[in-house]
Amino acid sequence: MSERKQFRAIKGTRDILPPDSALWNWFEHSAHEVFESYNFGEIRLPVFESTELFARSVGTETDIVSKEMFTFSLSQGFKNDRQTHDESEPGELVSLRPEATASVCRAYIEHNMQALPGNQKLYYIGTMFRRERPQKGRYRQFYQIGAEVLGQSDAPAIDAEVLEMLLVFFNRVGLTRTTLYVNSIGDKTCRPQYVELLREELRKVKDKLKEDSLRRIETNPLRVLDSKIPEEQPIIETLPRISDHLCDDCRAHFAKLKEELNLRRIEYKENWRLVRGLDYYTRTTFEVTAEGLGSQNAVCGGGRYDGLVELLGGPPTKGIGFAIGTDRSILSIEESGNVPKLGGLAVYIAWMGQASYPTAVNIARKLRAAGLSIELPPEEMKFKKALGLADKLGARYAVIIGEDEVASGTFTLKRLADGDQKKLAEGELLEYLESERRR
Ligand code: AMP
Repeated sequence: MSERKQFRAIKGTRDILPPDSALWNWFEHSAHEVFESYNFGEIRLPVFESTELFARSVGTETDIVSKEMFTFSLSQGFKNDRQTHDESEPGELVSLRPEATASVCRAYIEHNMQALPGNQKLYYIGTMFRRERPQKGRYRQFYQIGAEVLGQSDAPAIDAEVLEMLLVFFNRVGLTRTTLYVNSIGDKTCRPQYVELLREELRKVKDKLKEDSLRRIETNPLRVLDSKIPEEQPIIETLPRISDHLCDDCRAHFAKLKEELNLRRIEYKENWRLVRGLDYYTRTTFEVTAEGLGSQNAVCGGGRYDGLVELLGGPPTKGIGFAIGTDRSILSIEESGNVPKLGGLAVYIAWMGQASYPTAVNIARKLRAAGLSIELPPEEMKFKKALGLADKLGARYAVIIGEDEVASGTFTLKRLADGDQKKLAEGELLEYLESERRR
């Protein structure tokens, strides 16, 4: 007999089980509430898109596109299938999305959203995929919550409002030990000259740089500023800073953004090395880090990407957005001990004797309709065992229904924390538990 294979979740992916999943739901629910209070609407996107879409937007030289995408051909496996409804081009490659800004821009163009009134304010919640080396806070399938504003205006007030919304959200979910870093990385007027200057300066110190940075001198010099290698830090400190090389428009935009942040009493730190790994950013970039996460401490990244929609074949459009890493945010909330008390099992119905079963089924339905979480055991159990299980399941109350209760038309309500017990008629029981739920 062959041994049965034990399946396990693939490395870098994981299951989120109850009760943790309640924390995830609450986190995402809070995002819906906060983002909708800023008049953002949810966009639901496909999890795979044309590989070309990511290559063109995120950039072919980035780690994400050059080595981290899960890519496959849609026509594979359909070769002999005449009935295929697959309309993609033969051999077209698609990738599991490593991020969602490109998809939002693709959707904006596809649905002609520039014709809609005002700025388009969209948010998404979902899984992303990157073939990274898994470690704490870094997975191959992870979750992001993101928001994007697309339209004709690049007013710094938009950037500031997006940041305000982000911080209001973090505050709402108790993620308060955070730091917001902001920077401006210029635009197509001033950045190319700065990048060239940076390249020249980096070439001068070539022999002091490690392999990754050496390669980036040619492919993407800005990324050298991201380096965490200790030996490279003193060299990086001597490099020219973009803030000294911004054109007048970018300088004014950044100054106004800081004014707007002050107006909103948003605390921030400037970090001239914050360039972000993706090609599409212009002007404003930002990142939020949180405590308790070790090296993978970024919980949100974002910035402005004016011109990205155009690059993807759409009309000239300004854009700004961010992506929050849900996995790390939740890890940080857990590490801080700031986990809210969420729902959970309210009432365990301990019934005994077949005569009490119909009453148990009925009261369970009524309590559930009142919004309470109810466990109704499917099989008869001895009271002691039933109450023991109620305790282990973490129920707050047990409703006891036995022969006496059926005869007198009452219920015995037992508070499991202290054993306090009282007899109540149906109406009283419903009223009491409903008021407890609201407490
Ligand atoms: P990015 O799209 O790279 O700007 O990332 C935005 C946020 O997503 C980061 O700040 C992280 O919190 C989160 N994130 C990115 N990659 C991963 C990953 N592999 N595993 C878990 N979270 C991630």
